[in-house]
Amino acid sequence: MRRNWPARLGSPPSRMITGVPAHVDGRMLAISEAAGARLVNRDRMWHYTEGMINHSPIWPDHGIRVLAAPSSMWFDANGRRLANPGVPSYDTLGTLELIMRTGHDYSWFVLNKRIIDKEFMLSGSEQNPELTRKDLIGYLASRLFNSTPPPVKAFMDRGPDFVIASSLPTLVAGMNRLTGANLINADDLHRQIALRDSQVDNPFTKDTQIMGIRNSLAYSGDSLARTVALHKILDSAAGPLIAIRMNIVTRKTLGGLQTDLSGRVLGANGSPIPGLYAAGEVAGFGGGGVHGYRASEGTFLGGCLFSGRQAGRSAAREGA
Ligand SMILES: Cc1cc2nc3c(=O)[nH]c(=O)nc-3n(C[C@H](O)[C@H](O)[C@H](O)COP(=O)(O)OP(=O)(O)OC[C@H]3O[C@@H](n4cnc5c(N)ncnc54)[C@H](O)[C@@H]3O)c2cc1C
Repeated sequence: MRRNWPARLGSPPSRMITGVPAHVDGRMLAISEAAGARLVNRDRMWHYTEGMINHSPIWPDHGIRVLAAPSSMWFDANGRRLANPGVPSYDTLGTLELIMRTGHDYSWFVLNKRIIDKEFMLSGSEQNPELTRKDLIGYLASRLFNSTPPPVKAFMDRGPDFVIASSLPTLVAGMNRLTGANLINADDLHRQIALRDSQVDNPFTKDTQIMGIRNSLAYSGDSLARTVALHKILDSAAGPLIAIRMNIVTRKTLGGLQTDLSGRVLGANGSPIPGLYAAGEVAGFGGGGVHGYRASEGTFLGGCLFSGRQAGRSAAREGA
């Protein structure tokens, strides 16, 4: 990832956490290239900007991505609210650009308990026991009754990136203690949150995040199970306050081995290398292939399966 980091994003982050197991290391790309395969778009890659260090890691530097709905406020390492598209889950690559421009490799979510209870989902099968058990009722019940989902609660109790406090000055002291840098100013953070909160009462606000929350709430699916009712972050009844240091979590390359439509890997001269096939992420289908560079969340698996079918059929046809 570091070697192929896109030039438009400046230097790679000095610290990243990892969204895939250690064996997902891209090794086959180099092996295939050495065998004559053509590797394209190697600077296209996908990183999440809402990554938390796993309190119980399954692999080294295990990072968990938060799929958050729109209510948490997002600040850079200096405590300045992110500009557009700095709203949780809006635009992963756009937010990565915003964060990299700050010269720091992390940012902050500031929210409260009422928001985390309803809006936080964690990526990864072990973080979603109800979904992996196909217990949709259990899943919906935990969302509808606004109790903290157990995997989220475990992060609140043990997550190394979490600061929880009943007042903003205490929260800020904890944030500065966590990073060891005195970058967050309590008065300034209070000013920005209070300004946002003041717009909750303004039906014509131009605060784009509040407009986004209202958009979400207009959709019954989101308002039922995903987006918390609009309220003031500093409302003590919604507390305690929570700050989460969000790290950059690497997930995948969107470049890869160039193939034809049958999954046959192309060599440097553009013709297929006999007997060599590629499908899925290694062939750039983990998002970047059929769906474009800024592919929508959740569309990655489909392209992997589709290209696997193509490559498999073609290999069978050719008796490879
Ligand atoms: C935590 C997480 C959440 C995700 N969530 C989503 C989502 O919600 N929606 C979505 O669309 N996508 C999601 N993705 C992305 C999607 O899961 C992957 O893009 C997709 O599974 C990649 O499939 P693949 O077959 O290309 O690679 P893989 O599934 O990684 O398969 C590669 C296989 O090759 C094996 N292998 C490696 N080296 C060798 C070797 N030398 N010899 C033999 N075997 C080898 C590996 O063990 C592995 O089984 C997520 C990914 C992660 C990590």
